[in-house]
Amino acid sequence: MSIPELEKLKEYSFEIGPIRPPSEGGSRSLLIRATRNCPWNLCKFCYGTPYNRERFQLRSVEEVKRDIDAAKAISELIEVIAKKLGGMDWAARLIDPYFLYNKGFMELDQNELRNFQSVTNVFNWLRSGARSAFLQDANSLIMRTPDLLEVIIYLKQTFPGLQRITSYARAKTLAQKTKTLEELKELRKAGLSRLHVGLETGDDELLKYVNKGVTSEEHVLAGRKAKEAGFELSEYWMPGLGGKAMSEQHARNTARVLNEINPDFVRSRRFVPRKATPLLEEWKKGEFQLLSPHEELREIGMMIESLDITGKVCFDHFINPAYKVGSSYVWLFKQDYDGYKFPEEKPKVLELVKHGLEIDESLYIRVEDLVEMSL
Ligand code: SF4
Repeated sequence: MSIPELEKLKEYSFEIGPIRPPSEGGSRSLLIRATRNCPWNLCKFCYGTPYNRERFQLRSVEEVKRDIDAAKAISELIEVIAKKLGGMDWAARLIDPYFLYNKGFMELDQNELRNFQSVTNVFNWLRSGARSAFLQDANSLIMRTPDLLEVIIYLKQTFPGLQRITSYARAKTLAQKTKTLEELKELRKAGLSRLHVGLETGDDELLKYVNKGVTSEEHVLAGRKAKEAGFELSEYWMPGLGGKAMSEQHARNTARVLNEINPDFVRSRRFVPRKATPLLEEWKKGEFQLLSPHEELREIGMMIESLDITGKVCFDHFINPAYKVGSSYVWLFKQDYDGYKFPEEKPKVLELVKHGLEIDESLYIRVEDLVEMSL
């Protein structure tokens, strides 16, 4: 059977940034790069390394719209191909570098790679129901509100079936007076529905130490403002970030700030010293002491004990606590994106922490074991 659409697929591509939250990968979100890299780049534990420390750039609305058009063209071609072949499962066999370029993935040149990643992203998104889109990179809210609105409206017009559009947002930007509640409400009304905010910690001393560029008060203000505007809010915290020196204050103040915000999701991302960051260097020089697996669990227990929210608590990242059983590893907490419903399942999480503390510490994957891994 001749499939000219397969050849045409090679004509379209769009820009995809390096990261998105795991839950957006799970939902197979369509990835639309609204800006490039991180406008802050200075958090000691991250340092913008997920974006290779590259300079932050706004993209023009026209450029982003062209990417949305390319995604649309790819989606239409894939639908034709799937129809000809008898379904997406059959089409899946053709979304392969060998079928498209007659070469292996590692042999693709830059343009082919960009095209292949675009086609794969659209294909996975279509196959999973085409319901959600994620605006990349680190802080789309920093865009001028009229520009971001235009992007969201165009995205919704192009893909009317989208039920969820999400983005990372820096608390500092959300808290600023210049980003008014009315503007946030407009963005929400246009279709931006969920924000992912890196809280990391609610402790002011630790926020300052890691150079997060935001205070706990601003975190609370930002989170409440996002909720009031109607966003579904995910707040990420980082067990272990305070090391041994600040563990208790990190746990207690993180719970305090989260209680004041009452986000829809609290997501846990264990602290792992990342390559090329200042905190890795401090650890190597002995100026920062990592928590042991049991110390980290006690910290999680302390935070959860004080947590009084009506959202969901999730451990949806593979770096969260896992221990060895036979020749494989088992996660202590479930990994799904909806996690544990609070307050109902708070006792269950505390019970898991207790259970985790009964498991021999030597069986756990230590933070040190993850340092060399690309996360
Ligand atoms: S944690 Fe977020 S704000 Fe901080 S440097 Fe990394 S990407 Fe930027």
